[in-house]
Amino acid sequence: MKKIVVMLTFILTTFMLASCQNQEEVVVIYTERHYETDQVLYDAFTEKTGIRLDVVRASADELISRLINEGEDTPADVLIFADAGRLYRAKNLALLQPFEDDIMKNQVDQGLYDTNFYWYGLTMRARVIMYAKDRINKTSLSTYDALSTPQWNDQIAVRTSSNLYNISWIASLLMAEGETQTEAFLNGFVSNLYRDPAGNDRDQAKLVASNVGANLAIMNTYYMGLLLNSEDANEREVGQSLGVFFPNQGDDESGAHINLSAAGIVTYAKNIDGAQALLRFLTSDMSQSHFTNVNYEYPVNPNTTWHPLLVEWGTFKRQTLNLSQLGEFHERAFELMVGAGWK
Ligand code: FE
Repeated sequence: MKKIVVMLTFILTTFMLASCQNQEEVVVIYTERHYETDQVLYDAFTEKTGIRLDVVRASADELISRLINEGEDTPADVLIFADAGRLYRAKNLALLQPFEDDIMKNQVDQGLYDTNFYWYGLTMRARVIMYAKDRINKTSLSTYDALSTPQWNDQIAVRTSSNLYNISWIASLLMAEGETQTEAFLNGFVSNLYRDPAGNDRDQAKLVASNVGANLAIMNTYYMGLLLNSEDANEREVGQSLGVFFPNQGDDESGAHINLSAAGIVTYAKNIDGAQALLRFLTSDMSQSHFTNVNYEYPVNPNTTWHPLLVEWGTFKRQTLNLSQLGEFHERAFELMVGAGWK
């Protein structure tokens, strides 16, 4: 009899454990973001809610193809990209579902989420000009367009034309200024490049710091924060030698180019409630403080205090373009970039 009871208890316990495991709530994230800082937030989310997060990291284009191929069977619940243009594409391919929510609207600044609620910004970054402080007078800088004048011949460092940050930047100029002006800009800009584009944003800063001829680098703002706070003394030195300049700040000018990391809920998400909880969590003041304090990005939550370094760089006028539409200009922007000889 005793044996049977022990046996029954064992079977029951095993059964309960198994069903418990089956019931463990999971949200699957497909993300393009490549920053270690995100995992800290994911862990905090799991701790708070008990929901496990499975994270798949790949490029935006790879994740889009994957979602298309998987169709209804996709395991993905949440899609996170480091470029608003790619979320636009995902929306157009019917890979996202809308999520209209008052909490989200309160936590994300107006203009930083899709007008039909298919995606919400998570962080904001500006793509600006970094200059060699010892060689370049800040007063010689003004607009993006001015980078096409002969004054900057062979002095500009920028990464390749296939990079999404660059494509979105040029798409924003195309949207604001039209094709003729963008083409003229590109022709002058490309002829001012110090070398054939190579490397990432931080490599452009290193090139300028090495004082071989390049004096200006086109970079996202947070990379400056990462350089200045790097564990590597050389990187800190690179950061210290550069100044941050926000272009197009005049009254009649369009503002500095901004882009977003943003998130949306996948059309065939299996755990919509969990996905919604995650989006609310990532835009909450707690998460937003983490994004700005650890990765030096601008919070999208208007109530979140900026990291002191960002405060030091100052407030700036940002492009007021409809970021929901930026993606429409990507293809043409890339054609014009390649047409101008931007490798
Ligand atoms: Fe990046």
